[in-house]
Amino acid sequence: MGSTANRRIRILVTIPSAGAGPYPAVVCIGGHGSDLYSPYDETTVSKEEPKAKSDKIYRGLGTALAERGYVTVSTTVSQQEVYEEGRLLMGERLWDLMRCVDYLKSLPQVDGSRIGCAGLSLGGEMAMWLGAMDERIAATVSAGFLTTMDHMEQNHCPCWKFDGLRELVDYADIYALTAPRPLQCQNGLQEPPSQFYVPLARQALEEVRPIYQDLGRPENVMFDVHNEGHVIDLPALLDFCDEHLGHVSRAAH
Ligand SMILES: [Zn+2]
Repeated sequence: MGSTANRRIRILVTIPSAGAGPYPAVVCIGGHGSDLYSPYDETTVSKEEPKAKSDKIYRGLGTALAERGYVTVSTTVSQQEVYEEGRLLMGERLWDLMRCVDYLKSLPQVDGSRIGCAGLSLGGEMAMWLGAMDERIAATVSAGFLTTMDHMEQNHCPCWKFDGLRELVDYADIYALTAPRPLQCQNGLQEPPSQFYVPLARQALEEVRPIYQDLGRPENVMFDVHNEGHVIDLPALLDFCDEHLGHVSRAAH
């Protein structure tokens, strides 16, 4: 798919073979070291393509959503260098994801009012950015990322940072831009204090909640604290997507 006039990106798309569309859709986003297939398992990977090393932390969220009747799309955002001069790394990653949304919107099989995004780690960070910056995203799942920028200054790859960002905002402010659209953040209790630690995530979330409150939808921001570590909580993700993207009747009422 063309991402810019001079650059093409690879995307992986699944479309349900059962039922009648238009279907809801989810942009599935992997993190560092991930490739197009990371959010999927081998059941949706074409036989002709070599399977990258299996990455269990994503729990096959792409496959699970595909089997549940969602159109899914994924692309790789784990590059560490910009592809085109004059762009920011974060901007380029986000642009590619927005082009995935463009692609979904162009498909007759997709209900353009029911497009969500979900990711873990850097993918959870990119889900935060995509949900915040692209109002076509109706629901966002950001897993293994919610924290504070002060904390991200330590122990983490610095690819999140760019000039001017810290002077303006913290992550809570970026998440708050999704309001009042539904947002689920997931953090695992086994994340150590140096990583995406639940107490820090709670602290950040306390700054997001008032925005949802002010916009009259306090129930639309939810924090899923699960018993594992840096992984997707798949049942919680599926429930959230079904509730906010899966049922036409719910949106109509
Ligand atoms: Zn990084």
